[in-house]
Amino acid sequence: MSVFAERRARLRALLAEGELSALVISHLPNVRYLTGYVGSNAIAVIGPDGERVLTDSRYAVSAREQVDDEVDLVIGPGDLTADLARAVAAIAPGGRVGLEAAYTSMARGAQLTARIAEADAGIEVTPEVGRVEGLRLIKDEDEIGAIVRAADMVDVALAEVLAEGLVGRAERDVAFALQAGLFRIGAEGPSFEIIVAAGPNGAKPHAVPGSRVIGEGELVVIDLGAIADGYCSDMTRTVPTGQLPEALARAYDLCAQAQRAALDAVHPGVTCAELDAVARDLIGAAGLGDAFGHGLGHGVGLEIHEAPRVSREGTETLRPGMVVTIEPGIYLEGLGGVRIEDLVVVTDDGARVLSHSPKAAISSTTV
Ligand code: ZN
Ligand code: ZN
Repeated sequence: MSVFAERRARLRALLAEGELSALVISHLPNVRYLTGYVGSNAIAVIGPDGERVLTDSRYAVSAREQVDDEVDLVIGPGDLTADLARAVAAIAPGGRVGLEAAYTSMARGAQLTARIAEADAGIEVTPEVGRVEGLRLIKDEDEIGAIVRAADMVDVALAEVLAEGLVGRAERDVAFALQAGLFRIGAEGPSFEIIVAAGPNGAKPHAVPGSRVIGEGELVVIDLGAIADGYCSDMTRTVPTGQLPEALARAYDLCAQAQRAALDAVHPGVTCAELDAVARDLIGAAGLGDAFGHGLGHGVGLEIHEAPRVSREGTETLRPGMVVTIEPGIYLEGLGGVRIEDLVVVTDDGARVLSHSPKAAISSTTV
């Protein structure tokens, strides 16, 4: 049984529990996870009584290579809705069929529901959330292998660019060099738009690299990720360019300490909210709680941001095989920012850290 067939078997068992006759999977990373399909236009219909992937002629050749024989592959027009209605009528007549509500707009949902009703197969359509994402939470060995390769690429690309020095270069030039490096060493691409934010720009957690030239005595936040075999990596390093103002040096030390504490706290059985609190409480106790507005981290896999959410609201409990980031940040408006992010796999006895780029050692106590 292929890895995809095995995943679909687990999904079918979940559907039976939820008394669903089929799930319509329109979120492309979920389609890829379950069938191997890679492309921009596909819907999978998975049920106990049938499995289909619908796509269009642009993907006829690649989909035949990617999708295993147990799945019926339907090559139709670019608008997949007519084929979808036929597929659910064939697989789940008279049954309940779930739509992925988190990825289906109200307009699209209404359109699909109307087309399914036209098929006149007595099908009830119901919104469903998180079925496939629940399976994707725990990565298998091959998935972790791909994420490790993506993480290694980021380490290499960053080292190459830092070796050339940062001072005197525009943020945008550094971002471009990082991206070129990722492609050169075999990445399928960056896993998100690379962030290079120097000086006061570092106080914006999702700053867009601009023409600002990096100066001395600043913090430079560099956040980048690669894609390898479809899987993402994610890492942030904050690099000082010389002697820092006291406030920035203190913020860096505190962030590094909070990040270390959170890494040490990664363990099966810990909830995502508890893990978030480890870093947040440390930063809060130092009086900088308001400067750490975002969550501690997020899951990473086929998507750069996926379950579980590692935040104050994070309800998932860590389990071996989950891949998450640990990325506290402290942002001081007008001055600069610091974020330190590692990618980790939860293991039976803690965390395996996949990010190996060195972290700057700054001691604010000497200032
Ligand atoms: Zn990141
Ligand atoms: Zn991240």
